[in-house]
Amino acid sequence: MAAAPSHVRAAPLARAFRARASATATATAPTSRRALLGLSEPELRQLALDLGQQSYRGKQLHDLLYKSRARQVQEFNYVPKAFREALLGAGWTVGRSPVHHAVTASDGTTKVLFPCALPRALAAAVLLRSPLLYSPLQILLKLEDNRLIETVGIPVDDDNKGSSRLTACVSSQVGCPLRCSFCATGKGGFARNLRPHEIVEQVLAIEEMFKHRVTNVVFMGMGEPMLNLKSVIEAHRCFNKELRIGQRMMTISTVGVPNTIKMLASHKLQSTLAVSLHAPNQKLRETIVPSAKSYPLGALMDDCKSYFLETGRRVSFEYTLLAGINDEKEHAEELAEVLRTCGGGYHVNLIPYNPIEGSEYKRPYRKVVQAFVDALEARKITVSVRQTRGLDANAACGQLRNEFQKNPLLESSPSEPSLVHA
Ligand code: SF4
Repeated sequence: MAAAPSHVRAAPLARAFRARASATATATAPTSRRALLGLSEPELRQLALDLGQQSYRGKQLHDLLYKSRARQVQEFNYVPKAFREALLGAGWTVGRSPVHHAVTASDGTTKVLFPCALPRALAAAVLLRSPLLYSPLQILLKLEDNRLIETVGIPVDDDNKGSSRLTACVSSQVGCPLRCSFCATGKGGFARNLRPHEIVEQVLAIEEMFKHRVTNVVFMGMGEPMLNLKSVIEAHRCFNKELRIGQRMMTISTVGVPNTIKMLASHKLQSTLAVSLHAPNQKLRETIVPSAKSYPLGALMDDCKSYFLETGRRVSFEYTLLAGINDEKEHAEELAEVLRTCGGGYHVNLIPYNPIEGSEYKRPYRKVVQAFVDALEARKITVSVRQTRGLDANAACGQLRNEFQKNPLLESSPSEPSLVHA
């Protein structure tokens, strides 16, 4: 039972980085306006009553937000003007942000830029003529405090079933305080936690861009979801209840924050927990994921085992393969041993590293990846290799934001959008 003392040792460090994150978040999060997006129908009905309207007006708000996808209170044309004015007077907004920039993943070149002034109809027309619809699309949203966040839409055609999936990779923080050594987001610094509506609107932005409903959501964009668990849980609820995305179609990812996996388990979600390991032992892990110093591998694996026992949902382990660092056969064998401590509820996702600017890490050769897979499978570990598709990797996440906003800790002025490149 190494877990209990490990947690005790881990607590002061963990508290320290949580305190730092939350202090910054409190200092910078915009609080002046209230967002309707993310609220449930009962909450909207109550709001209508509070503003002197009948309860069914709340149902109308619900339809306007989640069916009509209104972007501003001024567009609520089938509720009385007095109600619209009461909402605006009380500081309510829809909570949507303009798209600042959008880039395809296929070759990394800028294809389309969407300044907020570009009419939506024109934007849609450009997209409908564009191959973007079939490529992953990386989107920067400009929040009300001018900070930029990244979200990625990843379309997948399933030829066997004749259906297509659209996965939204959503951010949970502006930047990230954990500074994993291979990650562009970590290198870009941390500003604040996202509010629930700022997570929800990412899925709406992707649906509008692709003209397709989002079928899957992965909390694998900028930030560590467990450091903003309250907003993540609220956004997850909204995705499930209001946007009708199945819980099993959603994945919450973490590199591990002490005591939070238990908190997540208590919500008894049917979604997948993805734990980013990146190394099979504590010493190596600390060099790749500095925050691992506050959460020893043994304690993390014990929490994963408890999660599986409590929820019945197997844990998915993410492992970024870095050439010459953690990709040898011995690492795979050690990883198999570590996973055995977790009971039977696990799956391994291998992610060949996607190089980022300024990083010393390299992508492993295909045969090295295959040898790693073989070593795991020989030990009866189920494993898949993720196709990175340019953007579908934590390593790539954050690169675009860093290009446009070097330091999220500084208040930036609204930047002028650059020219459209076709
Ligand atoms: S990999 Fe995830 S947790 Fe680590 S720095 Fe990047 S965004 Fe943060």
